[in-house]
Amino acid sequence: MLITLNSKLQILPDEQTRELLLDTMRVYKEACNYVSRYIFITQNTRLRDLQNALYYELRERFAIRSQMAISVLRTVRAKYVSLDTNHHPWKQIFFNKPQLDLVWNRDYSFLDDVVSINTLQGRKKLSFIYTNYALKGKYGTASLIYRHKKFYFYIPVTFEIPDVKEKDIINVVGVDRGIRFIATTYDTKGKTTFYSGARVNARRAHFDNIREELYRKRTASSRKRLKAIGQREHRWLQDVNHCISKALSESQPKGTLFVIEDLAGIKRSKLHIRDKNNNCCTWAYFDLEQKLIYKASLRGQMVIKVDPAYTSQTCPLCGRRAKANRIRSKHIFRCVSCRYKSNDDRVAAINLYNKGIQYLVRSEDSIPFFGGA
Ligand SMILES: [Zn+2]
Repeated sequence: MLITLNSKLQILPDEQTRELLLDTMRVYKEACNYVSRYIFITQNTRLRDLQNALYYELRERFAIRSQMAISVLRTVRAKYVSLDTNHHPWKQIFFNKPQLDLVWNRDYSFLDDVVSINTLQGRKKLSFIYTNYALKGKYGTASLIYRHKKFYFYIPVTFEIPDVKEKDIINVVGVDRGIRFIATTYDTKGKTTFYSGARVNARRAHFDNIREELYRKRTASSRKRLKAIGQREHRWLQDVNHCISKALSESQPKGTLFVIEDLAGIKRSKLHIRDKNNNCCTWAYFDLEQKLIYKASLRGQMVIKVDPAYTSQTCPLCGRRAKANRIRSKHIFRCVSCRYKSNDDRVAAINLYNKGIQYLVRSEDSIPFFGGA
């Protein structure tokens, strides 16, 4: 299986190079907007036509080198093409932030412990530190981003990882996702782990409060702050998901099958959609799922999604399904038939675990595991 992950570096330029990088990014942005205006008006996205019409003009007007001119044309064209393929209405695309897209080898490369980047004044060698993965594979088009006075370099790296086969599975983990506990897991050894949502929920409430206040103000500056808050929360939630998926994957051995609920089947009430303008929860669930799939696949683990129907209403001991089994307000599960009692999120994780076992039984025609409640 081929997967693509982002390798993220922080570039550490000296004062002089810093100005040069900022200049390069600013000019690149302006050139992008220039091309964008042209494509928007002509509605022509053929690369050859764009090159014929704009290449020399870009080089002259913005004093950029050949490779950068090509890169600008490709970047802007790709955005308009994706408007089309995603069936979005035709509209002018604006590039508001300083940016720089760099093609592997042509615009950037690694030499020992520095990265060499194409700027307005040709190649510059820069020292850097990795902020997440140091990955080996096929490097894609990287982007340089300036945020909080720091330079970050994102490189999509594509590489091959071995497929995990059902017969290699030695451990099954049911993962229930929720609000009170971000995740509750139940594994082959019968161990339950709760990942508390308390701190996340407190921080979310804090974001909600700020948002509510800003909604009420309805000024231009409050709208701007609203957007900034949203982006901050987005980044923070991504980081939370990164930590949880990492903890989930690293707490389990190679050959683990994670069983999660298929998001498409989860009721909106369970996701606690907070208001009609904010679908951040759905997004956060999906993001966690993606991150778990990535991290699991890197560690020889596998993730399956199962139909979430009745995972919180079915007794894992006697199989009796009843709405009354779950007492939501007390976070308790108590079977109306056999009186089996446990935490409700734990029961959902056990039921997911059992669905994982069923999946393996169906694919293997044998019963490799025993799971008790
Ligand atoms: Zn029961």
